[in-house]
Amino acid sequence: MTAVRVRDLRVRLDGTVIVDGVDLDVARGEWVTVIGPNGAGKSTALRAIGGLLPFTGTVELDGTPVDRLHRRERARTIATVSQSPTVPPGMLVFDYALLGRTPYIAPLGRESAADLAAVEEVLGSLDVARFAGRRLETLSGGERQRVFLARALAQGAGILLLDEPTSALDIGHQQEVLELIDRLRGERSLTVLMTMHDLTTAGEYADRMVLLAEGAVAAAGTAREVLTEDNLAKHYRVRVRVIEGDHGPLVVPVRS
Ligand code: ADP
Ligand code: MG
Repeated sequence: MTAVRVRDLRVRLDGTVIVDGVDLDVARGEWVTVIGPNGAGKSTALRAIGGLLPFTGTVELDGTPVDRLHRRERARTIATVSQSPTVPPGMLVFDYALLGRTPYIAPLGRESAADLAAVEEVLGSLDVARFAGRRLETLSGGERQRVFLARALAQGAGILLLDEPTSALDIGHQQEVLELIDRLRGERSLTVLMTMHDLTTAGEYADRMVLLAEGAVAAAGTAREVLTEDNLAKHYRVRVRVIEGDHGPLVVPVRS
């Protein structure tokens, strides 16, 4: 079963074509990582797939066109963590994670015991339960990133869209968050579609990768197929050496 099916996706912002005919499939339970230089259209493509931007073409989530899902239904299907989520000033970590339950709470209604339990469970599994009563803005980047993930997981959606979830993190917290996503993917049978800049790490975790350049798919396949010296030289204008590692290619920039 295909969790995310994208055909001929086009997005225009202020009259400029930003995403220019993208095809992409993510099977249920699969982890696909989109890479590409700054400005390639990664965030824009993800926002369109999440139903957050108008587009032309087809985006189907679990077989249903995203534009036919109502807001609440969509939120139960797909959870997005944007590149730099807004941190509402003064909001407590618990209340922030509880926002993920909005699609289950009746308009003007109150959260149920089940909603509270779901949030507690998710905060626990992300190891941030001890911050529940803290204001979100007082957390470190790594802690905060885990809370953003907690909000998305509390949503109970089967598809996770993560835009550079590790960019703000040091190498240790990067690894921790990626391991965590992978563990949760197994435990909760999640489908993961994300963007990431660190190419070696991206290749280690993704089942498949998509290289986006100037709004179009320049390469797609396994890390070995996508992370080639030629592809990277051409689309990132970078000189790299690609070395065979234990878990896939290692991308090493080399100076001239
Ligand atoms: P990426 O995530 O790959 O770095 P983005 O999707 O954020 O790229 O942006 C792709 C391009 O779209 C960039 O050139 C950016 O300047 C442009 N862009 C983003 N938002 C707008 C907008 N509202 N109007 C016009 N251009 C935009
Ligand atoms: Mg981006």
